[in-house]
Amino acid sequence: MKRYVIAGNWKMNMTLTECEDFFSLVEKGERGGLNSELRTPNSELKIICPPFPLIPIVQKKGSEKGILVGAQNVSEHPKGAYTGEVSAEILHSLGVQYCIIGHSERRQYYGETDEIIQKKWMQLRKFNINPIICIGETLEQRENGQTIEVIKSQIKQIFYNVELENNEDLIIAYEPVWAIGTGKTATPEMAQEVHGYIRNLLAEHYWEKAKDIPILYGGSVKSSNIKELLKQEDINGALVGGASLDPNEFTLLLISN
Ligand code: PEP
Repeated sequence: MKRYVIAGNWKMNMTLTECEDFFSLVEKGERGGLNSELRTPNSELKIICPPFPLIPIVQKKGSEKGILVGAQNVSEHPKGAYTGEVSAEILHSLGVQYCIIGHSERRQYYGETDEIIQKKWMQLRKFNINPIICIGETLEQRENGQTIEVIKSQIKQIFYNVELENNEDLIIAYEPVWAIGTGKTATPEMAQEVHGYIRNLLAEHYWEKAKDIPILYGGSVKSSNIKELLKQEDINGALVGGASLDPNEFTLLLISN
């Protein structure tokens, strides 16, 4: 059966109070009927990745609803004098099970390369934290017809000398950079073309296992466009930024398949 995964990326949003309000609104379900549906959601895996300080709150409140907590980033170093960084060991000690790495905002504003992303993955691996690895092309690259070339190069650099471990739940997020936070979504067909390509490339390296790797789409996903995206063969769910901050939208995304 096709896996369905929804991961919310809160980015640098939500204060402590806003986070508590989010969960009480999910609880109440402002729109009728959300409550009962949320108890039997269709998405197999529900993850929220809050800012680091909110991890314990999301961990506690989310567990009551079957929502797992993820982080948005991790250091490529194991520990020590790296002011402002958070290690995989610290995340593990807080009960974090998933972690986004290689988000385009990290690549763009903090100079993260595919090499650094692979190092981060290896740190996560030491503590059995599953990676949500982001890849995707910029607008300029798409307009220059370089989408496939860019994806191929990112996959090659991040994955090709790494074997999958049996207990690891590797998740990939294809996020065209031009669709993130812009309101522009790739059409379901455009997204499927790249998702299919990603799965085929992974199959060259991971063989049979590639068909079970969830490939999420990210870029202005909301309850009104998720259904069409999910109809595509190789789209297993979504990594959601803006819409994951709204408890009603997030709930609707959880029950959209
Ligand atoms: C993201 O941050 O990964 C993202 C896809 O954001 P948005 O849904 O707001 O475009």
